[in-house]
Amino acid sequence: MTQQYSALCKGCWQQMHVPIPLRGGFSLPFRAFGIRPSNMNPNICTICEMMFARMMKARTVTIDATILFADLRGYTKLSQSMPAADVAGLLDDFYDRCAAAIWEHDGLLNKTIGDAVMAIFNFPIKRSDHSRQAVLAARQMQKNIADQRARFGDTPDAAGDELGIGIGIHTGEVSFGEFGHSHRDLTAIGTVVNMAARAQSAARPGEILVTQEVHDRAQAELQGSTATDYTLKGFDQPVALYAA
Ligand SMILES: [Zn+2]
Repeated sequence: MTQQYSALCKGCWQQMHVPIPLRGGFSLPFRAFGIRPSNMNPNICTICEMMFARMMKARTVTIDATILFADLRGYTKLSQSMPAADVAGLLDDFYDRCAAAIWEHDGLLNKTIGDAVMAIFNFPIKRSDHSRQAVLAARQMQKNIADQRARFGDTPDAAGDELGIGIGIHTGEVSFGEFGHSHRDLTAIGTVVNMAARAQSAARPGEILVTQEVHDRAQAELQGSTATDYTLKGFDQPVALYAA
C-alpha cells in the first residue's frame, strides 16, 4: 500500500492560503517549531489539529459534516487461535488500512473506540462533496480489509463469522464538545453522530449502510441502490438505509 502524501498542509492552504510545508527540506524550520503532519490526517498540520481541538472545546460550534463509523467483526474468534502479539498486529493493520482510506478522501480520523473507528469529512479540509468522499472512503476500506483477509488466509466459514467490517454513514449538522469523565474526549456529538453509529451496528460484515441524506448528496455513487427499513436502537420510527 503506497500512498502519496501532500507536500503542503491542505487545511492551512484552503482556509488561510498560507503554504505550510509538511515534507521535504522546506519543512525543517517548521518542524523546529513543532509544526508537523497531524496524526489525525497526515495531509494537515499540527496547527490545524490545534484549531480542531479549540473548535471542539468551544461547545457551541456546529458544522455541516459527514460522519463515518467502521467496526471490525469476527476477529474475536480468529484471535482465539492466534498469539496475542498477532492479534495486536491484526488490529494495528486494521487501523492503518482504515486510516489510509479516510485520508485519501480528505477525512479526519477522529477517534478509535475499542475495535471501531470514527471519521469526520469536511473539516478542516473542506470538500463540497464530503458525503460522496465518505462513501468512496468506505468502499476503499472494504477493499483494503478484503486484501488483509487474504493475507491472513481467512476464508468464510459456515457460520459466516469471517473477518470483516460493518460501516455506517450519516450527514448533517454536527456539534462539537468535550466529553467523558475519566479522560477528556474531544469529539463530535449529536443526532447525526448517533445515527451514523446505529447504521454501523446494523451493517453486516462487508456491508456499508448510508442514510437518506447521504444517498441524496451522493446520488451518482448510489444509483440502483434501494432503501430498506431498519429498526435502530434509540429511534422510534424505522429508518430507511441504503446499501452503498
Ligand atoms: Zn495546517
